[in-house]
Amino acid sequence: MTRHDLANPIFTDEAKATAHMEADRWPDGANCPHCGSLNVHKMAGKTQAGMFLCNDSREKFTVRTGTIFARSHIPLRKWLLATYLMAASKKGMSALQLSRMLGLSYESTWFMCHRIREGMKPTGTAPIGGDNKVVEADETFIGGKAKNRAYKKKEPKKHAVMTLVARDGESRTFHVANVKAKTLRETIVKVASRKSYLATDELASYGLMKRAVFGTHHSISEAHLPRYLAEWDFKWNIRNITDGERAALALKGAEGKRLTYRQPREGAHA
Ligand SMILES: [Zn+2]
Repeated sequence: MTRHDLANPIFTDEAKATAHMEADRWPDGANCPHCGSLNVHKMAGKTQAGMFLCNDSREKFTVRTGTIFARSHIPLRKWLLATYLMAASKKGMSALQLSRMLGLSYESTWFMCHRIREGMKPTGTAPIGGDNKVVEADETFIGGKAKNRAYKKKEPKKHAVMTLVARDGESRTFHVANVKAKTLRETIVKVASRKSYLATDELASYGLMKRAVFGTHHSISEAHLPRYLAEWDFKWNIRNITDGERAALALKGAEGKRLTYRQPREGAHA
């Protein structure tokens, strides 16, 4: 990531952040997220900044309505910066690192991170691989390393994770109950095209990157694991593009995904 990218005013100026997301989400003009109508107008007045009114459904909305940034008191410029930093960081960023950079509490930042990961979830579910294509399979365990065992704290739970990677193609990572052959086989037939060849070589480069990403997060709870896996697949699948392009894709995902879960209670951190 270059200095130049972080100096972009969309990360410091709320009006510019809003204009950036409006242009990105609505390149042909705003449309109502409630009814789809293009018959909308921007409301006047300072207190209504960024607010639109739909002339058909009479509903109010902003560029955040219907996205993972909806119903949040955190300024949009901070959401954009967090999205950018998470997408650009190849090794993954912890909520603690991000909270310092954003000047927000750990709790707020942790919550943002999970919403942003939600945006990174793939939208398509087409099988990977195909005719004459090679799909590689790899299993690993995530978590389970206690940082401080002095007080005989229970060791964090390990999670079995399976990755299927189409050679020169995309990856899909899943939380599996165990790494028994039968369990893995069931996942493979669900995810990979039956026409593919299955290889189980060690995925050397892939394994290295994966360790880097998951090494950032000390322990991950089962409930939140799928979002970490989504972040991982997202980064792998677009590994050959620039930081800026990756951030733009993450923002597209954020715009396209509605919030699917509520804020967890205090202490429920991954
Ligand atoms: Zn409407």
